[in-house]
Amino acid sequence: MAEKTEQRVAVVTGASRGIGEAIAHALAEQGRHVVCVARGAEKLEAVAKAITDAGGLASTKVCDMSDTAAITEMIESVAKEHGRLDILINNAGITRDNLLLRMSDEEFDDVIQVNLRGVFVACRAALRPMMRGKWGRVINLGSVSGLVGNAGQANYAASKAALSGFTKSLGKEMAAKNITANVVAPGFIQTDMTDVLPQVVKDAAQKAIPLSRFGQPREIAAAVAFLASEDAGYVSGQVLAVDGGMTMC
Ligand code: NAP
Repeated sequence: MAEKTEQRVAVVTGASRGIGEAIAHALAEQGRHVVCVARGAEKLEAVAKAITDAGGLASTKVCDMSDTAAITEMIESVAKEHGRLDILINNAGITRDNLLLRMSDEEFDDVIQVNLRGVFVACRAALRPMMRGKWGRVINLGSVSGLVGNAGQANYAASKAALSGFTKSLGKEMAAKNITANVVAPGFIQTDMTDVLPQVVKDAAQKAIPLSRFGQPREIAAAVAFLASEDAGYVSGQVLAVDGGMTMC
């Protein structure tokens, strides 16, 4: 018998623009109540309004994913207000690019704090309500940089590579609780994060992509939505590259 899934609640971090915004829309189209999370309230409200205008369910939480106490409070408040939390999409991520020889402690720590520690804290808080609901989906956003490295991104690549081991461990610990955990690793996707790259870097990146184009946020959202679906219940501990073939062997 098909499960009744209408009321499943999903938290999407970094949902105010780019890939996170596309994921929020995709999950709402699946009938989830989507809690959109980021630091800037105004853009978040606009995303939630667009979802509700389209007939979906959405709300917002302002939270800085570098603030451990705030993350725990945010996740606990979602679980309390809705009486459940089923899906966690750790999408918020930052770059502080620099060549390794010039990279400051701060540039390294800032990236690890949001991209790795923030994910750990959010998962730790979200697992209890998922266990209570006997069902859960965790999807962490990695990167091709975490799979093959990237000059100027030692901090970012380290944070994204670490998500692989972290997510597989979570998947092993939580499998008996019917909670799956996977990584989606995007290649070059057209968002604010890549818009700021110099044209020469964009041109070089495009040459390295077999499909010869940057991806669109909705193409990442489609992969995330599948892994968050009922249909993906037998997929766990995987790192799915959605990168136009960049990392194919
Ligand atoms: P983006 O356009 O820069 O958007 C980042 C989102 O994260 C925004 O909603 C931002 O909102 C939020 N955010 C940033 N810092 C935050 C913090 N400290 N606390 C809470 N929210 C925060 O990024 P994107 O390109 O969509 O990337 C999304 C994810 O995919 C990231 O994890 C990124 O590493 C990964 N990725 C992207 C690409 C790409 O080509 N675009 C490639 C590989 C992987 P506020 O600023 O309002 O907080």
